[in-house]
Amino acid sequence: MKKGFKILLSLLILSACQPLPKKKIFMTVEGEKSVDLSGICLVHEHIMVDWIGADSTGYHRWNRKEVVDRALPFLLEAKTRGVKTFFDCTPAYLGRDPLVLKELAEKSGINIVTNTGYYGAVNSKFLPKSAFTDSPEAIAQIWIDEFKNGIDGTHIRPGFIKISVEITDTLSSLHRKLVEAAAITHKATGLTIVSHTGFDGPAFAQLDVLKKYGVSPEAFVWTHAQLGSIEGLLRAAKMGAWISLDNVENAEFNGKNRIDWFVETLAKFKKENLLHKVLISHDAGQYNVGQPNGGKFRGYTEIFDLLIPALKQNNFSQKDIETLLIENPRKALAISVRSIEI
Ligand SMILES: [Zn+2]
Repeated sequence: MKKGFKILLSLLILSACQPLPKKKIFMTVEGEKSVDLSGICLVHEHIMVDWIGADSTGYHRWNRKEVVDRALPFLLEAKTRGVKTFFDCTPAYLGRDPLVLKELAEKSGINIVTNTGYYGAVNSKFLPKSAFTDSPEAIAQIWIDEFKNGIDGTHIRPGFIKISVEITDTLSSLHRKLVEAAAITHKATGLTIVSHTGFDGPAFAQLDVLKKYGVSPEAFVWTHAQLGSIEGLLRAAKMGAWISLDNVENAEFNGKNRIDWFVETLAKFKKENLLHKVLISHDAGQYNVGQPNGGKFRGYTEIFDLLIPALKQNNFSQKDIETLLIENPRKALAISVRSIEI
């Protein structure tokens, strides 16, 4: 055997034996996309919400064309600010419509990611009847099936788990079950758990449940963390959890302009070297089902038009901004199982 051929052969055998480097992906409504192409991400926004409740909502409640026509200009506006990937946080039974999202992704050229999971807050008004009696395993099976086979027969797959719990310190047994189902689903799919949480109490209660299931805090996003205490947020970030500060908006919040609050809070994370655990979003939108033409729609631009200039004036570098809007979303939301020893 010629020497060159021998070397080539041994290289081929070697490469066949080595596991391929695992590609990091987002699961978008148009299928898998490499996170390398995800660019600027908005991690918590809404295209549509139907507040009527799980017992009455359904695809009959809205006109898909009307929703698409209403939302598309706002997505295109965000695209002019550089947005490439958009996580739609509207869960099932609250107006999630994968076909609307797919059409918007195709028409806007923006990657859109939808979710699986149930929303427990607001007295469980948005939970389907089965959630009250099903075991965590049975609930997880429904969510895992959506990931494997698609949502409602569409073949459109969710890219993260969205759950929600009440703001009280102690999880009710019903809401604990949602967190347990999320833990089981995470271990089976690698989908990140994005949980509408708010205050410290429910955040740490959920992290405790995940720990019992061997799920790392790295797989958990503390959503609406702007309601938590700064001590709690820093502590959770040190544990590895993702801190999602939503509602970037030119409005008053606790007697302060929200943009100023964001600059001050992000500066505290930067000082603690924890900026790499923070996610930011507008929590904006949306077509409100039941209102004429969806009612008032808030666009997705204040991060770019107001917050970034304010951060730059306060010694945040371009690298810091890229950490918040490009790097952190990739690390938080790329699909991968994140376990800890039980
Ligand atoms: Zn939201």
